[in-house]
Amino acid sequence: MEVFNGVKVIEEFEAMTKDAERVQRESLKKILEENGSAEYLQKLGLNGRTDPESYKSCVPIVTHKDLETCIHRIADGDSSPILTGKPITTISLSSGTTQGKPKFVPFNDKLMETTVQIYKTSFAFRNREFPIGKGKALQFIYSSKQFKTKGGLAAGTVTTNVFSSPQYKIIMKEIQSLSCSPDEVIFGSDFDQSLYCHLLCGLIFWDEIQLISSTFAHSILLAFRKFEQVWEELCADIRTGSLSDRITVPAIRTAMSKLLKPNPELADLIYNKCTGLSNWSGLIPEIFPNVKYIYGIMTGSMEPYLKKLRHYAREVPLLSGDYGASEGWIGANINPKLAPELATYVVLPNIGYFEFLPLSVNTEDQVQDKTHPTFPGADCKPVGLTDVKVGEEYEVVITNFAGLYRCRLGDVVKVTGFHNSTPEIKFVCRINLILNINIDKNTEKDLQIAVEEAAKLLAGEKLEVVDYTSLVELSVEPGHYVIFWELSGEGSEEVLSECCTCLDQSFVDPGYVISRKVNTIGALELRVVRKGTFQKILDHYLALGSAVSQFKTPRCVGPTNNVVLQILCSNVVKSYLSTAFQ
Ligand code: AMP
Repeated sequence: MEVFNGVKVIEEFEAMTKDAERVQRESLKKILEENGSAEYLQKLGLNGRTDPESYKSCVPIVTHKDLETCIHRIADGDSSPILTGKPITTISLSSGTTQGKPKFVPFNDKLMETTVQIYKTSFAFRNREFPIGKGKALQFIYSSKQFKTKGGLAAGTVTTNVFSSPQYKIIMKEIQSLSCSPDEVIFGSDFDQSLYCHLLCGLIFWDEIQLISSTFAHSILLAFRKFEQVWEELCADIRTGSLSDRITVPAIRTAMSKLLKPNPELADLIYNKCTGLSNWSGLIPEIFPNVKYIYGIMTGSMEPYLKKLRHYAREVPLLSGDYGASEGWIGANINPKLAPELATYVVLPNIGYFEFLPLSVNTEDQVQDKTHPTFPGADCKPVGLTDVKVGEEYEVVITNFAGLYRCRLGDVVKVTGFHNSTPEIKFVCRINLILNINIDKNTEKDLQIAVEEAAKLLAGEKLEVVDYTSLVELSVEPGHYVIFWELSGEGSEEVLSECCTCLDQSFVDPGYVISRKVNTIGALELRVVRKGTFQKILDHYLALGSAVSQFKTPRCVGPTNNVVLQILCSNVVKSYLSTAFQ
């Protein structure tokens, strides 16, 4: 096994980022040389040219939807060179939380290589600041349902494709943080059972656990919320050495029986630690005293979970993971010391060819131009990786090694600076998660800020917002925003009504404020949903083939997302109307 050499990884990264423009040209050249024979590129008349100028003049900017016909032909078994020179044998399923259903995205060994590269890069920087000793990782990772497409291609979420790759194991061994859970748990067919067993494995190896991680931070939170419910059962399993009846999957039972032995002393220890905690504050360091940090993507739609995560983690640092998508990786977090709210990602110039569509959402013209409500940058010309401007916001356009050419990712990023000659970006939001009725425009970030502001009013009642989402209600005149909240307990009428008004007042976008004042947007509505509603939404996505590892609560439910809408609406227990702007 190769020994991980962080110094070398950092040196290579520094050299490459000093020469970002040349590396980008080379990456594009490689992509086009490898895939020049693909039907898609052939039709566009590149005629073997591989320079960025020719590429940009021949190849159109597209969205995933434009490529669907090609991707479905591949998935249906057409192995001719359609998007790539070599046939695609694996399909990734995106989480689909934005559109309401998972998208198919081609996956190949090249994408796996870039995954290994980004893991190694951010680990090298992380390990320099937060070295971990020999030990284990408590990783809340889960595979999705894997299936074969009509044409016999393996399909699963990108994280599943990564976790099941032999290269993943090799790199995890190399960086000394093998998961404490057996594969049967990670690849188990039942999420609840896998989660329970991850927790149990964590407790069995409690003093060896060096880090706690997941792909997206939401899974970590989900795990510790579960811990609060099942800790006594976990202790009982450890005391007796026999696994709870809730675990019914034979492969998981067999794998766990090899690890679980009667250990009354450990059971007592954990029991005492748990009973000694006040409201589970500091649960993580108490149970896992050797944990150096908690790691997972914590930006974007994960930010709302940070408060609760800090409650469990107390002094243990929270480190955000990297930035990527099923379409490919984009940037590494090389400043792990920054709080997740400030995390930025340095774009790796050799893992794809990147362009950036400038967004200038705030000009009066564009706010009023209803022809481009969701893609304000659609008519703008994209700029190259090294030509972006600090302080500006862009939509990312990716060309990858697996058949996507100039494909819009639908993510908004802000350039915060440069690392050598490659940009450092901050994730802002999904571009189409915008609350918009007329001249108003609120992003998922604006919604997050409003929810955080209103949730402050719950502190006095010792309540918290477990999760939230929103909706634009247009079936009544005038249209208005609806915010759905799941709460940790029952709130008083008075406080919830105040929260509703506060939500309304916390959207400070001028278009919204004016519209509210003249009543072209009606009073905001807060709908409180039953406990467990967001778990039902998660279950719905899992049934569609999504994986918990990649799950992101949709922060705005569009009209195409009928099932989620139905889950929400059928679970409303109370609703309130704002009294602001009266
Ligand atoms: P998926 O659709 O499952 O492939 O998820 C990819 C999406 O997750 C990206 O397009 C982003 O919107 C989001 N995402 C991935 N990494 C990050 C990150 N570091 N910060 C915020 N959002 C992220």
